[in-house]
Amino acid sequence: MELKIGWLYPNLMSTYGDRGNVICLQRRCQWRGIEVSIIRLDRQADPCQFDRVDLIVGGGAQDRQQEIVMRDLKGAKADNFKNKIESGTPGVFTCGSPQLLGKYYEPALGKRIEGLGLLDFYSKHPGIDANRYIGNLVFELTASKITQELSATLDRQPIVVGFENHGGRTYLGKVEPLGRVIKGYGNNGKDGTEGAFYCNAIATYSHGPLLPKNPFIADWLIKTALQQKYQTTISLTKLDDSLASVARDAMFQRLELASLRKTS
Ligand code: GLN
Repeated sequence: MELKIGWLYPNLMSTYGDRGNVICLQRRCQWRGIEVSIIRLDRQADPCQFDRVDLIVGGGAQDRQQEIVMRDLKGAKADNFKNKIESGTPGVFTCGSPQLLGKYYEPALGKRIEGLGLLDFYSKHPGIDANRYIGNLVFELTASKITQELSATLDRQPIVVGFENHGGRTYLGKVEPLGRVIKGYGNNGKDGTEGAFYCNAIATYSHGPLLPKNPFIADWLIKTALQQKYQTTISLTKLDDSLASVARDAMFQRLELASLRKTS
């Protein structure tokens, strides 16, 4: 079996170690003998490259980089990307990249950046004097499809640990939130929602990078991509995630969320 991972604009959208999500997916495939290749979906990429991928990863970015990305992610590239997501291709999008999947992002300075309108939300930076939402982030997954599938595998409510650093605030329309904030700000520091979930696409404010700290999400993405590609039920061999468990428990301890310890 083989997987092609599409990496959205690696040089423009990889803040706060988000490239770690690509490395994590790559390793967890290789450790299971699944062939994996990385396809850069960037300004040099031909629109048909978007059709070739089985899983898509997008990272965080500064406002300026987001503006540059959207000057390129339009026309056939935008259409092919949207069709992939709506046909069920799984993806994980962190902070700056999901802001571009929504209707628009209004940065602190400069003009509104029109988004792809794929996810029903918009994002707004309240201005350079407003405080950025920075710090450790903990939330429980609530989006029905991924939560049901993971709760069945994990035999408990999936809790996500990460780190956020964003000026933009996101306001959801009809799209399902990814989760409910336990610690931190999440989408807008007000309504308790974190991220969004659409088809098999995960949108989150959680850097970290997200996947090494929450390997069960990496496995959900790999399994979903293989099932989508080979149209058959896939069961992945279990990997030794004891290091990730120790790291998670240390975070729960530090954040005085000891009750969540051992939930990994
Ligand atoms: N530039 C966006 C904001 O400030 C996204 C930041 C990020 O990707 N970390 O909200």
